[in-house]
Amino acid sequence: MRPLYFKPLEDGRVECLVCPHHCRIANGKTGLCRSRRNHDGELVSEVYGKPCSLAIDPIEKKPLYHFHPGTTCLSLACTGCNFHCLNCQNHDISQVAPSEVGHYDLAPEEVVRLCLEHHCPGIAYTYTEPLTYIEYVTETARLAHEKGLWNILVTAGYVCQEPLADLLPYLDAANVDLKSFSDEIYQRVSGGHLAPVLDTILAMKEAGVWIELTNLLIPTINDDMDMIRKMCQWLVAHGLAHAPLHFSRFFPRYKMQDLPPTPLSTLKAAQRIALDEGIEHVYLGNV
Ligand code: SF4
Ligand code: SF4
Repeated sequence: MRPLYFKPLEDGRVECLVCPHHCRIANGKTGLCRSRRNHDGELVSEVYGKPCSLAIDPIEKKPLYHFHPGTTCLSLACTGCNFHCLNCQNHDISQVAPSEVGHYDLAPEEVVRLCLEHHCPGIAYTYTEPLTYIEYVTETARLAHEKGLWNILVTAGYVCQEPLADLLPYLDAANVDLKSFSDEIYQRVSGGHLAPVLDTILAMKEAGVWIELTNLLIPTINDDMDMIRKMCQWLVAHGLAHAPLHFSRFFPRYKMQDLPPTPLSTLKAAQRIALDEGIEHVYLGNV
């Protein structure tokens, strides 16, 4: 397919315009997400049409609790992520190059056919970071809409506005992982910044996408109740009081093996604060 969202630089490198990292990639090399390569001056997604994971999930697993509950979705993931969270539970597919994992060959129209064949009402782009293979998501989502299927994005929301705007018309629902309300924690734990994630949430709201949010609480890292209160105040102030908020329990994973699981009392304290601040639907996950 036609490569999108990059600009050639004078020295033979290309600049990727998909996410705020704006990787400047030398010929033959890939960007931080490991799945977009400079191929003789064109930026190519190496995972277009090559999902590494396919499954049929209950929609509640995304989690989406208020978007057609009781239904299923065809879940699809390609390798790669533009974050490097120390606690990533899917690091075996998010923090690897496409060549390190097996894959299916599935053009967008074949994904749609598979979804219809299995009587799933929608497709979820999930498990890793779908925004790093946004061309595949957007084309699949466009074809899915033509067949009356929903499109669901499960994302950390680290993307530039132009590629996101091209996807939004085909997006019905999203669960956005709001990892903390501190730029410093975003940098330290995930290798990114908070502000673009907030911009993504607002752009989705503006476009009428159904949004639910997940905040995974990691002991001593992002479980400060004042910060959680500020996050809830921001959501309410931006018209997102109705967006279900899922506080999720941390378990030791990947490079964060030395911390205990989140105490239930922490999750309940966060839930109380969110309800106090006016968030209408607050759930506890992984408990
Ligand atoms: S999508 Fe990947 S290659 Fe592009 S800027 Fe982000 S991390 Fe870099
Ligand atoms: S954003 Fe999600 S998939 Fe990517 S590294 Fe973080 S936890 Fe893993």
